[in-house]
Amino acid sequence: MSTFVVIGGDAAGMSAASKAKRDDPDLEVVVFEKGEWVSYGACGLPYYIKGEIQSLEDLVSVTPEEFRDERDIDLRTGHEVVEIDPEERTVTARSETERTMTQAYDHLLIATGAAATTPPIDGLDREGVYTLGSMTDGKELREYVARARSEEDLQQLASGPACQYLEHCRGPIGVVGGGYIGVEMAEALSANDFEVHLFQRGDRILKGFSEPTSEAVADHLADQDVSVSLEAEVQELAGGEAVEAVVTSDDRIPVEMVLVGTGVRPRTALAEDAGIELGETGAIATDRYSETSEPDVYAAGDCAEAEHVVTGESAFVPIALTANRRGRAIGRTVADQPTEGGGIAGTAAVKAFEIEAVRTGIIDHEAARNAGFDPVTNAIKSKSRAGYYPEGGTVTVTLTADRDSGRVLGGCLVSEYGEGAVYRSHALVGAVTEGVTVGELSNYDLAYAPPFNTTWDPVLTAAKVLEGKL
Ligand SMILES: Cc1cc2nc3c(=O)[nH]c(=O)nc-3n(C[C@H](O)[C@H](O)[C@H](O)COP(=O)(O)OP(=O)(O)OC[C@H]3O[C@@H](n4cnc5c(N)ncnc54)[C@H](O)[C@@H]3O)c2cc1C
Repeated sequence: MSTFVVIGGDAAGMSAASKAKRDDPDLEVVVFEKGEWVSYGACGLPYYIKGEIQSLEDLVSVTPEEFRDERDIDLRTGHEVVEIDPEERTVTARSETERTMTQAYDHLLIATGAAATTPPIDGLDREGVYTLGSMTDGKELREYVARARSEEDLQQLASGPACQYLEHCRGPIGVVGGGYIGVEMAEALSANDFEVHLFQRGDRILKGFSEPTSEAVADHLADQDVSVSLEAEVQELAGGEAVEAVVTSDDRIPVEMVLVGTGVRPRTALAEDAGIELGETGAIATDRYSETSEPDVYAAGDCAEAEHVVTGESAFVPIALTANRRGRAIGRTVADQPTEGGGIAGTAAVKAFEIEAVRTGIIDHEAARNAGFDPVTNAIKSKSRAGYYPEGGTVTVTLTADRDSGRVLGGCLVSEYGEGAVYRSHALVGAVTEGVTVGELSNYDLAYAPPFNTTWDPVLTAAKVLEGKL
C-alpha cells in the first residue's frame, strides 16, 4: 500500500486528501495539521466578525471526525511538520505534547498556506493590534467586537441612550491596508458602529483592480462614513502597552484598536529547508501537475505558484478556488490519474457594504507590457437591467485588450451589491482564459431578460466599445 502524506489541513490539503482517498481507497492518506481547525473557510471570517455568521464552526465544511470516520483519512490535528527529508522520503512532525514522530511517504503534498505579513513599523506588538489570517485571529477579533459592544451597552444601560441610536459611537479603529481584507473588515467593524479609519499607502485602494473600480469602492466607503486616507504610509502604531494612535507622515489619528491587513506571504520555510526550489515570486515553484523540483513532492494553494493563463508565467495568487482545484487535481494524480491543476487568471471579488467588485486577468499596463502585450484599456458604464424595469443600477466595466491581436487581457466590474458585477465577470473570465479577442467576446451569446440585464449585457457593450477603440 502506498502512502500519501499531506502537510496542511485546509483547502488545498483536504481537497487532495479527500480526492485521493475517494479515487483510490487502498491508498493510505495521512494529513498533518498544526492547528485544531481543518477544512475551514477563512473567507467567511470578516462576516463572522461582523456578526452575520454566528459560530466559527459554521465556517467548517467537513469536521475532523467526518474525515476520520467517514472518509478513512488519518488526520492528525495538533501536529506541526518540522522537517521534510526528500532523500529518505519522510516527514518529521511534532505534536502539541512535544512528541516527535517520523512518517514515510510515497507522495507528499505541501499545502502550508500563507501567513499574514506586517509592514516594518514600530508598535505592532502593542495590545490592540490584530491581523486576520487564521481562525484564531477571527475568534479574537470577534471577541474584541463583542467585548466593546457589551461594555458599552452596559455603560449605556446605566447612564444614557443606547448605542444603536448613535452612528459610529465605538472605536475609533485603524485599518492599515486597502486590499480586500482591509475593505471587508472596514465594513465588518463599521457595521458594528465603530468609527473606522482606513490607511492606504498608495494613491488608491484595491490596487489590483482598475482605477474606476478602486475609485467607486473608495467613494462608497466614504459614503458609509469610513474615513479613507490615501498616500498614507503608516510609520508607527503609537501608545503605551496598548495602541493609542496610528502615526503617518503627516497625521496622528487616535485609535483604540488596529487591524493590519497588508497582504500575505507564502509559508515556504519547510520546502526551502528541504532544498525544494522557490520561484521568482517567492512561492514554491511547481509544474503543470503541481509537482515541485523534488519528484513526488507536490505543492498547492497559498504556498505555491501556478501558471497565469494570460502571461504563461508563474504567478502567486493566494485565493481559495486555486487551492481547492489544484489540491483536487493532485489527489487524482496520486491516485494514478495524472491531472493538470489548470492555470490561474487572478480572479478575485470583494463586497464592501452595498457595492460589489471583481477583477480578472492582466489589467496593469506595466504587467501587460512585461508579458509582451501592447495594452489598451477602456471603461464603460451601463445599466444593470432593462431601462424600463423598475429596479436596477449601474455596472462599470473596465476592459483591457492587446492592441495588435485584440486579445482580451483582463477586466474589472463594479456595481451595486446584487446588480451582478461578480456574476457577469464569469463570461469575462472565460474570454481571458480562452484567449479570445474583444470582437469574439462581443459576439458571446449571453442570456438576456429585462430583470437581469440590458439586451447587450454590460460585458458585451464594453467589448464592442473597446473593439471600436482598437
Ligand atoms: C480573512 C480572509 C478572507 C479571505 N477571503 C477570500 C475570498 O473572499 N475569496 C478567496 O478566494 N479567498 C479568500 N481568502 C483566501 C483563502 O482563504 C485562501 O486562498 C485559502 O484558504 C488557501 O488554502 P490553502 O489550503 O492553500 O492554505 P490555508 O487555508 O492557509 O491552510 C494551510 C494550513 O496549513 C497548516 N500548516 C501550515 N504549516 C504547517 C506545518 N508545518 N505543519 C502542519 N500544518 C501546517 C495551517 O495551520 C493551515 O491550516 C481569504 C483569506 C482570509 C484570511
